[in-house]
Amino acid sequence: MNRLRSGWSLLALALSLGGAPVLAAEPTFCHETPSSHAQGLSIGRASNGKLKGARALESSEAVRTLPRRHRRRCLNWGTPRLVAALQRAAEAVRTHLPDSPPLGVGDLSKARGGPIRPYSRSHQSGRDVDLAFYQLDEKGQPVPAEDLLSFDARGHADQGRLRFDVRRNWLLVRALLQDKEVDVQWMFISLPLRRALLEEARQRNEPAALVKRAESVLHQPSDSGPHDDHFHIRIRCTAEERAAGCVG
Ligand SMILES: [Zn+2]
Repeated sequence: MNRLRSGWSLLALALSLGGAPVLAAEPTFCHETPSSHAQGLSIGRASNGKLKGARALESSEAVRTLPRRHRRRCLNWGTPRLVAALQRAAEAVRTHLPDSPPLGVGDLSKARGGPIRPYSRSHQSGRDVDLAFYQLDEKGQPVPAEDLLSFDARGHADQGRLRFDVRRNWLLVRALLQDKEVDVQWMFISLPLRRALLEEARQRNEPAALVKRAESVLHQPSDSGPHDDHFHIRIRCTAEERAAGCVG
């Protein structure tokens, strides 16, 4: 049934786009269902791994899968720890600033993990997630992210119509770094946006240890895109996962 629905959505998409070949060929993974495991288990590497006992990210006022391209991919599965941490972090942002729009979530993993080509080489073991940046309009009002948008070195996107919301993006980083249930390994982001976040942290007089930790995990990768259109977050394996073959 799910496989059928997935096929129909591709057909509907092709028709709605007048048969545009590139988008119509994009894969979805909607036929997959998670395997059972009580706590959830990340196995292998982020770039060569799989996932047991996955949990789906459920949309709420605080968090949602991005509607434009990502929802139909059905890559909304992660280890229960990662999914719960995203929900807590998004709720923490709204606790500090109640008018915050939902955190926009791009790709997590397939229900059982494994390759998600052509979207990414990693995201295979339920420990990776792409997050849209919180953003402001020209009047400084928060607006929900509909897709992943590139922000330039001045923190502008969509030809200057949108601004990088440094306050909320820092609150998000802080919430994830302070979450005791997950150990953040990396937060990939472009250098200018990293600089803006660290400056925000210092201006807020955040504890030195927190700023130092943010400096060590916020990183522009050298072997992939500059990540000027999303945070790519990766969490480390737990001790139990390592014993079962998790690497990272
Ligand atoms: Zn990613």
